[in-house]
Amino acid sequence: RAKDDGRCVYRFFESEMDNAARERRMIEVELRDAITKGELVLYYQPMVSAEDEQPVGFEALIRWNHPGRGPVPPAEFIPVAEHSNLIVDIGDWTIQQACLTAVDWPEHLTVAVNLSAKHFRRSDVAQVVQKALNQSGLAPGRLEIEITEGLLLEDPDEVVRKLGELRALGVIIAMDDFGTGYSSLSHLLKFPFDKIKIDRSFVHASGEDDVARDILKAIVALGRTLQLKITAEGVETRAQAMFLAELACHQLQGYYFARPLDPAEMLHYLLTRVPGRAGVVKAEAERQL
Ligand code: C2E
Ligand code: MG
Ligand code: MG
Ligand code: MG
Repeated sequence: RAKDDGRCVYRFFESEMDNAARERRMIEVELRDAITKGELVLYYQPMVSAEDEQPVGFEALIRWNHPGRGPVPPAEFIPVAEHSNLIVDIGDWTIQQACLTAVDWPEHLTVAVNLSAKHFRRSDVAQVVQKALNQSGLAPGRLEIEITEGLLLEDPDEVVRKLGELRALGVIIAMDDFGTGYSSLSHLLKFPFDKIKIDRSFVHASGEDDVARDILKAIVALGRTLQLKITAEGVETRAQAMFLAELACHQLQGYYFARPLDPAEMLHYLLTRVPGRAGVVKAEAERQL
């Protein structure tokens, strides 16, 4: 009896696996089309200066505008793209699109792009970035590339070389989700980062306990010692924003200031919240001609 049950569970498990694999293949096929059909969209979330809460830049966050399912979050399709070679096409598109969009913003605003570790490994990213900069005319200093520590775990020499190439272009390199990796500290010393983005889990916990607040304080102090720019992610409350500003964290990002904005919301944000908006109005008007 027990044996039968076991087999039954096993069979169930096996068919679940099939379903997962089938589901992944289905998404993969649809995703391939999504790129050519223009169903991928970049949303933009403001990063504000901790000092005066004015926007200093935006992070591009990809969405898939699926005809049946509405905007699909990246967690549901980026892993599938990474499983195939689609991540290279999607990554190239994202970098190119972000540069073309940001060049129309007022010049003091930066744009940040998330780079998948798989994309980084499989392509000549410096060449892709160079091409996107040339094509758009965006100043390299206005582009930030966000990578996570996963990238740094394999073949560090090759990664250092490629990050060096990127940095030589004049773009800014940021470590995303700082503090969640295995050895964030040693990675900071070994790789040429310009910026750290403190993971939102630390910011979230800081509302509740003193230890979390002390850790945040230590991370900001560490970043300052290494002369890195520091952005805190996932700021959801006024209390968190005030605490981080007190610590002299440079930039804040999170729902408290704005959610990731779709293209129409983004235009509205630029028109109403950003000084020097005349340039944007002009660029937008020209595009519509
Ligand atoms: P990430 O780069 O750490 O991006 C921050 C995530 O936190 C975003 O989720 C954002 O919507 C969310 N977030 C922002 N503020 C708050 C807040 O106050 N509270 C909470 N709870 N969440 C907040 P999203 O857009 O779903 O993206 C998830 C992850 O997917 C990103 O994490 C990034 O690793 C990846 N991703 C997004 N866009 C791209 C892309 O174009 N290419 C690649 N390769 N990965 C991307
Ligand atoms: Mg990011
Ligand atoms: Mg992050
Ligand atoms: Mg993340």
